[in-house]
Amino acid sequence: MNPSIERYVARHGITDATRQAVAAPPRMFIDGALTEGAASDTQPVFEPSTGARLSEVLLGTSDDVDAAVAAARRAFDTGPWPRMAPNERQRILWRLADLVESHADTLAEIETLDTGKAIGPCREVDILGSADLLRYMAGWATKIEGATRDISAGEYLAYTVKEPVGVVAAIIPWNFPFNIAIWKCAAPLAAGCTIVLKPAEVTPLSLQYFAGLVLEAGLPAGVLNIVTGKGAVAGAALAAHPGVDKVSFTGSTAAGRQVGVAAVEHFAPVTLELGGKSPMLVFPDANLTALAAAARGSIFFNSGQNCSAGSRLYLHRDVYDAGVASIREMLSGLKTCGGLDPDCDVGPLVTAEHRQSVLRYLDMAHTDGNVLHGGSAGDGPGYFVQPTLVALNENAHPLVQEEVFGPVLVVLPFSDEEEGIQLANDSPYALAASVWTADGARAHRLARRIRAGSLWINCHDVADNAMPFGGQKASGIGKDLGREQLEHVLHTKSVTMTLV
Ligand code: NAD
Repeated sequence: MNPSIERYVARHGITDATRQAVAAPPRMFIDGALTEGAASDTQPVFEPSTGARLSEVLLGTSDDVDAAVAAARRAFDTGPWPRMAPNERQRILWRLADLVESHADTLAEIETLDTGKAIGPCREVDILGSADLLRYMAGWATKIEGATRDISAGEYLAYTVKEPVGVVAAIIPWNFPFNIAIWKCAAPLAAGCTIVLKPAEVTPLSLQYFAGLVLEAGLPAGVLNIVTGKGAVAGAALAAHPGVDKVSFTGSTAAGRQVGVAAVEHFAPVTLELGGKSPMLVFPDANLTALAAAARGSIFFNSGQNCSAGSRLYLHRDVYDAGVASIREMLSGLKTCGGLDPDCDVGPLVTAEHRQSVLRYLDMAHTDGNVLHGGSAGDGPGYFVQPTLVALNENAHPLVQEEVFGPVLVVLPFSDEEEGIQLANDSPYALAASVWTADGARAHRLARRIRAGSLWINCHDVADNAMPFGGQKASGIGKDLGREQLEHVLHTKSVTMTLV
């Protein structure tokens, strides 16, 4: 291990399994085997708290994508997985969930070293949350059902059958590399689909470790494949592959648009979970202590690299000063440090490039706004940015309209309900929103009028496996999670038989 990572790790301790995992040569996972595939190039993977080289990733080629799709195709067309009794598929997914849970310490350490995220929430949310999701979706395997229909065409027996859609291509971002991979594969696996996963090139390590658990759980070869590599090469080849029946993407709006076009070219249905710039709309009767706690768990969770983060705070003028004071008090208690520190609240950002992008927004904040907290790069060689609160008056400003994807909260005033709704909806995105008020009628009135995939009342970023998640407008198409996700990985066939 690089000496500066060694010093960092020595302060906190990691398991031997984690050491072995990050020292392991980079591999893809195709047709039930760890492989170098056809990739001849690699690129380094950095540890964000130190900025030092941690590992490397294979830059998969279109040949690797061909091999992975062919394996998934075989497993779907002739393998046991789609034909297996649903309760047997369910049992294997439960076994996989148990393995994720029993390897949670190692998976969390790998993920923290790879992404910089705080180890406590990483273990609870990213890893154990994923085990829960596997179990939740495993439960649906035995509850997939069609319907009989009384039809008017004559004497017929008519019914619908739900069939797994086929080979699913799943393209994963770097902000929740393990958790979103499970978001993408738990429902298709429960439905009987097979999968090719493409992790983000900067955060491949937890999924490489996961491949070993997939084998141990007993998923047949080819049911789940992992191809690493650059988005523009491996990702683009996967989205455009004619052997893929469904494309499921989570990532930026710009890449999602390209993936959507590529999928439609070969008539694959597509789910796009894209960016967000979610408003928190706060009325004078709101609980401001709860608001600050929610902001801590949202825009300052995962260092703000959170698609549904409440990144636009609209405070009614009557509580503007009190709301700002409450947020500043919360911010003064946050600890920014390396993610392995058990007390870490805000870890580094994922890459040096991403930090540069966030720092450019902070330059704008100093020029055009009033920086009320933070506003600079953090200390040290790692990719730190101070948790930041910026006051602005102009809703059209890039800091209000664009996804910064860092620990940066912008605050603006509003005067009445109509203006609040107008400001909240004035965004290219519509992923999530929250309304803060003690007035139930107002809360539900606004729940209907604010455009968002998820609308929270007096809370923010409360995700649950049972609740569908996915936005409107530039935030994407389709839903992950909930029974709704099953519908995206099932095809409905109509069967009609004459009775005469
Ligand atoms: P990104 O778009 O840069 O990359 C996401 C994935 O797509 C990576 O695996 C990348 O290699 C691949 N990719 C990039 N270009 C591609 C192309 N042309 N064709 C195919 N694949 C391509 O996103 P990111 O920077 O890794 O993630 C951050 C973004 O993800 C943010 O915008 C965030 O809001 C979004 N996100 C959304 C959700 C959601 O559920 N809506 C959840 C998490 C993250």
